[in-house]
Amino acid sequence: MSMINSTAIQACGLKATPQRLLILKHIEKAGHISIEQLFDAVQREFPSISLATVYKNIDALLAAGLIREVGIVRGKHVFEIAKEDHIHFICKRCGTVTDIRPRKEILPESLTGPLPGEKEMVELNIYGICNSCKNET
Ligand SMILES: [Zn+2]
Ligand SMILES: [Zn+2]
Repeated sequence: MSMINSTAIQACGLKATPQRLLILKHIEKAGHISIEQLFDAVQREFPSISLATVYKNIDALLAAGLIREVGIVRGKHVFEIAKEDHIHFICKRCGTVTDIRPRKEILPESLTGPLPGEKEMVELNIYGICNSCKNET
């Protein structure tokens, strides 16, 4: 079931351009995707698109809260469709990012005590070696 359509984009105050729809489609399909992978995928269907345009659209989609950025190993980021707070398992070997639904609401205050500001979203990453990488050795 796709959450991404023109109506969802317009509801966030953005124009639903073909480029935006294509970018969102590929982010949704991949689950988590880097800017390079996204550019490759989008360019296959929309050869005239430039990397600068992809970046501009990513910025607009981030600002509108439709997608979010996940911080990954060595400063690399991937993008995903915004959804409820969840936990990422990130494989240090193959870079695969897996969404894990927490058993209960993620409350950072339970780890840290009172926060020095208002919480907007929580990002929690667990790094390790995924089972398929583990089985290869
Ligand atoms: Zn792996
Ligand atoms: Zn995720």
